[in-house]
Amino acid sequence: MATKKRGRHRPVTPAMKDRSAASRTAAREALHAYAVLCLNDPAELEQFRDIAASLGWKLDPASADPGYSLQNALLLAAQRRPLTYCGGFNFWISQGRCVAEGQTSLVTFRRIGRKKSDEEKVREKELAEEGWQSSKRGPRYYVKKGTYDVAQTVPRERCPHCSTAPAGEDDRTTQCPPDCAVFAPRPGSKPPRVIVVELLQAQLLDADEDEVGEE
Ligand SMILES: [Zn+2]
Repeated sequence: MATKKRGRHRPVTPAMKDRSAASRTAAREALHAYAVLCLNDPAELEQFRDIAASLGWKLDPASADPGYSLQNALLLAAQRRPLTYCGGFNFWISQGRCVAEGQTSLVTFRRIGRKKSDEEKVREKELAEEGWQSSKRGPRYYVKKGTYDVAQTVPRERCPHCSTAPAGEDDRTTQCPPDCAVFAPRPGSKPPRVIVVELLQAQLLDADEDEVGEE
């Protein structure tokens, strides 16, 4: 039976809130574990810098520039390594590839709400200085499924690099050989080591607190 897609403003049930909180907790725990790994093993940290360079990264998560925020690059790498290049289901379709059978998507953080204007930021700062506190509480991001690494995709049409072609329209298992250029790291600049270390330290969960500090 086909389920009809409801409007965007469907009510949020307690069960949905629980699932959402659980996925944020899982993401934070994955980040904590990966941060511990990278902070204790210089080779892992360097591998992350290479992954971020290939994925494409940006410092400001709210900027319209292409690429993942460094935080999201870290979250993606925490879930899967090696990692070369990521995109959503439709991105891969646009690249002549599709998600391979049986693959589980990776998650990323998405911001809730629009970006504040400069005037709003100034006004908030003024109010804070006058002793007002923002009434906005709770997470300002959610965890979104639906991202896949290139290694989780297969050619949907003849691969331009290695000429591997799907056996038929429904074939989602025929894969390019491991040395196909589609799996090669993309050229990009590595994030500065000092910024990465700072970001990693910010992922460490305090044993006494449930919530990691939110900037
Ligand atoms: Zn190929």
